[in-house]
Amino acid sequence: MIIMKSEATKEEIADVVKEIKKYGLRADVSRGAYRTVIGLVGDESKIPFSHFAILPGVKEAVMVETPYKLISREYARMSEPDSDHRVVRVGNVEVGGDVPVFIAGPCAVESREQMFRIAEGVKKAGAQILRGGIFKPRTSVHSFQGLGAGGDEEAEEALRWLHEAGNAFEMPVVTEIRGEGQVDLVAEYVDMIQIGARNMYDQDLLTKVARKRKPILYKRHFGAGIEEFLSFAEYMVAEENKDIILCERGILPLGKGRSYSRYTLDVTAVPTIRRETYLPIIVDPSHAAGRRDLVFDLSCAGVAAGACGLIIEAHYNPVEALVDGQQQVTPDELEEIISACHAVHEAVRHRKNRD
Ligand code: PEP
Ligand code: MN
Repeated sequence: MIIMKSEATKEEIADVVKEIKKYGLRADVSRGAYRTVIGLVGDESKIPFSHFAILPGVKEAVMVETPYKLISREYARMSEPDSDHRVVRVGNVEVGGDVPVFIAGPCAVESREQMFRIAEGVKKAGAQILRGGIFKPRTSVHSFQGLGAGGDEEAEEALRWLHEAGNAFEMPVVTEIRGEGQVDLVAEYVDMIQIGARNMYDQDLLTKVARKRKPILYKRHFGAGIEEFLSFAEYMVAEENKDIILCERGILPLGKGRSYSRYTLDVTAVPTIRRETYLPIIVDPSHAAGRRDLVFDLSCAGVAAGACGLIIEAHYNPVEALVDGQQQVTPDELEEIISACHAVHEAVRHRKNRD
């Protein structure tokens, strides 16, 4: 990490960046009101720090041996002392701002009519962003894989329905991509790209998605540690895309016997991650619970723990849903959840602002 003097000139900064590139590393230039800090992307052991320390305009050149740094609050604070939290804009919606954001919609896009009906319902319930899966990650090859499995034309048609439903009810839209081959097509139609839990570790996918320069909803793998999750998020920020929204969606339950929920919502991860990074974090109570009757409780818990928002699966008739019917809530239930979560947020807001 190269910390520039507050009076360093543009030319001096550019010279340092040029010098970094000579050693085969990339530079993340963070220009704050206070000073400029240059994060090194790559193997820092290749860098002669003593040489960098004496370049014009340089205050300090230090080696930082942590698995992630570009996303850390510590790094952001060096250039901008007040930059504790980043607000990510998804269409016209701000995630990480003063109010919690609710993303809702069906697990899977099934038809144009279904998308419009659900979009209308979730909008009325208070949701600001619309979700709908087109490429579904499924455990069994014999279950419905999402309309995207039908081929490029079917995928594009489903993307158009999602996009049109979002437009009709003034909501930006998000869908998951499961592989690198889907990135270009999906990026044309959505406001935010989701990387699902199962793909958290796919470095090539992270890099390709980050280069689209769109906001990314990045879900934690159900077996990943917090440091691991944040370290992989760093791959996207290293591509100069800081519009990352992290999502806690439950980790594998422990112990013998039934656990009564699909996963265990790691509530502790929320305030922990808020202290480590300036990136906003949201909670997915639906996949954590795996059952409708727990979604209200986990939603309130997520917001109370400091989540900037929630992503909730919703359907007008859950039993009819092709995927995850058991955990989808109705628009009426969603309205109740959103209203309770606003009250919870109000109760913890003052504490949260001090984090
Ligand atoms: C989803 O959001 O549709 C999904 C499959 O979630 P996860 O990747 O968390 O399992
Ligand atoms: Mn689902």
